[in-house]
Amino acid sequence: MTRARRIFRILEKTTQDRLLNILDKVAAETGIGVSGETGLDVLPNSDWSEYEQSNDVILIGSKILKGPEAEANYTLLHELAHSVSLNHDKAFYQALDRLLHAAKKLNIPISKGKGYR
Ligand SMILES: [Zn+2]
Repeated sequence: MTRARRIFRILEKTTQDRLLNILDKVAAETGIGVSGETGLDVLPNSDWSEYEQSNDVILIGSKILKGPEAEANYTLLHELAHSVSLNHDKAFYQALDRLLHAAKKLNIPISKGKGYR
């Protein structure tokens, strides 16, 4: 890991390292989240996720992290795109498209999970 990033309750180091590695790689590819300061945290006992703008933290539900890796990866990128725009507007989807394109180029497995359109 080359850049310091705030992490809170993510307990499994392998998951943590994997998600931070993805953030680093897509940031280098897209410029989104390139500051390297976006925090990660877990929402305990949850299948929900959100981006908390006030703290610049991506919150991922613990149940998502226990599910398929590709779906957790999608969630991570979805929430990272919210650092560009909080709403599901044009700017958000443009950012998400760039992130998904970068993930494909980087061979990062991505699958839309339940609950996303
Ligand atoms: Zn969203």
